[in-house]
Amino acid sequence: MYQDEHVIFRGSFRKFVEREIVPHIPRWEAERMIPREAWEKMGASGFLCPWLPEEYGGSGADFLYSVIIAEELARAGAVSLMAPLHSDIIAPYIHRLGTEAQKRRWLPKCASGEIVLAIGMSEPNAGSDLAALATRAERDGDAYVVNGSKTFISNGIQADLVVVACRTDRNARGSRGISLLCVERGTPGFSRGRKLEKMGLHAQDTAELIFEDCRVPAGNLLGEENKGFHYLMEHLQQERLIVTIMAQAMAEAMLDMTIAYAGERKAFGQTIGSFQHNAFKIVEMATEVRLGRTFLDRLVDRHAAGEEIVTDVSMAKAWTAEMANRVAYQCVQLHGGYGYMEEYAICRFSRDVRPIAIFAGTTEVMKLIVARKMDLL
Ligand SMILES: Cc1cc2nc3c(=O)[nH]c(=O)nc-3n(C[C@H](O)[C@H](O)[C@H](O)COP(=O)(O)OP(=O)(O)OC[C@H]3O[C@@H](n4cnc5c(N)ncnc54)[C@H](O)[C@@H]3O)c2cc1C
Repeated sequence: MYQDEHVIFRGSFRKFVEREIVPHIPRWEAERMIPREAWEKMGASGFLCPWLPEEYGGSGADFLYSVIIAEELARAGAVSLMAPLHSDIIAPYIHRLGTEAQKRRWLPKCASGEIVLAIGMSEPNAGSDLAALATRAERDGDAYVVNGSKTFISNGIQADLVVVACRTDRNARGSRGISLLCVERGTPGFSRGRKLEKMGLHAQDTAELIFEDCRVPAGNLLGEENKGFHYLMEHLQQERLIVTIMAQAMAEAMLDMTIAYAGERKAFGQTIGSFQHNAFKIVEMATEVRLGRTFLDRLVDRHAAGEEIVTDVSMAKAWTAEMANRVAYQCVQLHGGYGYMEEYAICRFSRDVRPIAIFAGTTEVMKLIVARKMDLL
């Protein structure tokens, strides 16, 4: 599926990641923030939203370029720089649902890195059960007045524009009466809450967002009023595919670094990888990793061809996230005490891979979707 130009692009992006990102990760982890310059450098080099048409600041690249960027960042242990979330999960909402004026106003800055995006779906009492969200937006003249809060929002502190899911019809229940509003930095009544302390993804600014009588211009509504839940469901296929790509690339990287380590580290006069028990562990992981890759590549192909793959991508997201976490556990074990030390990359990888089984829909929610599609529930 990859052509020569994709291979060349992968090579140049990998070099960019090795030069501009990897050396800075320890500092970004300590500072608990990805600096703006990193976003701007990504943008200046054409690595943000490459799929956008040229008129909106992109280069009209096909989906495989987005896949390559997500894979290379994950492979390098740089998932805290959530460029795929920005480029391939949130920007598509603006591109597909936005008016011409909205697209011209925001998209070129998304491609340059001047605007960092976030999406606010989850609330303190609405995570898996998204239809329970309570943030309200009431129409008042030429604005919506938004009240409520969001939590666990990736890029929450840095974001210049947040796509916020809110309830616009106070009489509607469940998934009905939800709309998507673009809330911009500086809008009166919009503030950031706590920057959350997390188990991993230390360089990622995951935060609470607070809306208190926040007046959002009615012109910032994305798509039609009250169709928000439908839009969210439509876009989740690509979101889950991107997250699966991250999990798979991390599993591959963890396996590679562990094979290398097991071939060097000696105990009882031999390399630890040459104990049959450990060799078998590595073989089991390599088999799972290869299965994941085969499944994923097929899904990428089908998604790029415009097929509906909701069932399969939900299966893949659930299985790959769990597989990558099994691999993480075994790889730390094979590193012994060094696996628990920051100076070894496996330590950070094992922390950062954990939430992939939680965000973009938990493993259990993925199974719910598949079970319903199979008419089991
Ligand atoms: C690092 C990180 C980044 C995130 N970024 C974002 C973001 O940018 N934007 C955003 O909107 N959200 C974001 N989230 C939130 C994420 O999407 C939610 O955490 C997730 O959807 C789960 O919701 P919850 O945490 O409320 O868990 P709950 O919904 O409370 O679930 C708790 C447990 O119960 C299980 N469960 C729930 N319902 C069922 C059921 N019907 N059957 C079986 N089991 C069930 C769940 O699988 C889970 O194991 C992020 C989360 C993390 C950890």
